[in-house]
Amino acid sequence: MNLSSPVDPVAIARDLVRCPSVTPAEGGALRLLAGMLEEIGFEVHRLTFSEPGTADVDNLYARIGSGSPHLVFAGHTDVVPPGEPGSWTHPPFSGAIAGDELHGRGAVDMKGAIACFVAALSDHLAARAGRPAGPAGAGQPAGTVSLLITGDEEGVAVNGTPKLLQWAAERGIRFDHCLLGEPTSAEALGDAMKIGRRGSLNGTLVVAGRQGHVAYPQLADNPIRGLVTLMSRLMAEPLDHGTAHFDPSHLEFTSVDVGNPTVNLIPAEARARFNVRYNDRHTQDSLKRLLKIRCREAAGDRIRYSLEFAPSNSEAFLTAVGPFVELVIGAVVEVTGRTPKLSTSGGTSDARFIKNYCPVVEFGLVGRTMHQVDERVALADLAALTAIYRRVLDRYFGYPPH
Ligand SMILES: [Zn+2]
Repeated sequence: MNLSSPVDPVAIARDLVRCPSVTPAEGGALRLLAGMLEEIGFEVHRLTFSEPGTADVDNLYARIGSGSPHLVFAGHTDVVPPGEPGSWTHPPFSGAIAGDELHGRGAVDMKGAIACFVAALSDHLAARAGRPAGPAGAGQPAGTVSLLITGDEEGVAVNGTPKLLQWAAERGIRFDHCLLGEPTSAEALGDAMKIGRRGSLNGTLVVAGRQGHVAYPQLADNPIRGLVTLMSRLMAEPLDHGTAHFDPSHLEFTSVDVGNPTVNLIPAEARARFNVRYNDRHTQDSLKRLLKIRCREAAGDRIRYSLEFAPSNSEAFLTAVGPFVELVIGAVVEVTGRTPKLSTSGGTSDARFIKNYCPVVEFGLVGRTMHQVDERVALADLAALTAIYRRVLDRYFGYPPH
């Protein structure tokens, strides 16, 4: 199969990697992207959002065409810090091409995928216009294509995708489907895509006791005993046994603290923090209820405790397996020969915000080196992902017509 694209995704990815866009810095990445999109006929909006207590973040919304169907490609140009640059084989923002790989922070998560989508889009629009791809070659899509690119995915995600979506909704912009370019492939390009994500909930358990001398325990009330009892109860039984597309929900304690520097003191209070990654059997509210019941049962009237939950905007969700999911699967199979596993594993992504507006599917590069030293992507994978995105665009917009 000929995977070559007249617009080179490797060059775009390399140029994006050279922008040091560690969250929340824009680093020139959105400026570069805006320039490329304007050249092929996009209307581009650069949007800076702020909120007290968080850094201002630059974002981009670009669109071409009109009417339906409306496909939006979502992604982020921000990257996690590189750590100690000296530990990289090639400097993290050099965009070095060594052998058959492009090296650098963001190569797979996820500047590479953005480059592939822009290349695929240029090809698709040029093909529709019957012209060679490039600045002068772009035609219009048979509907609307948008890009929703944030600079705040790897950070607190406050001034990014949620506000971009809200901004678009306020202007009457409606999306039919979203393709999110996160690195979803596990070992080989095309082996997995994501059709949902688990929810995430953080909680704190605090048990109150009475401080005292360790040699006179009868005069004190050690809260550690109570905390251990409640923790055991929360860990004892699974929260569920998984669902059709999800693993079982899981509660994991992340910290246990009494803050006691001495050896002869029974502390007055003991606390533990935990995180739950949960599936579509639960909502946050039902999960909180379940955990409260378990604590209440274990505590009886002996243990004085409080159970608090941090605010969370990460509900579990699942995109129904329908024509759009099938379309993306078909494009992946055609280019790679692999049938992607429909996964919901891993951490949260901005799909948790997008799913409130339209169905969202995540498909992108192999994530093996993401967030690591020597993050890198195979040049062949950039070519293949471009071919996949091109097929998604062609099929979505019924090109070539028949
Ligand atoms: Zn990412």
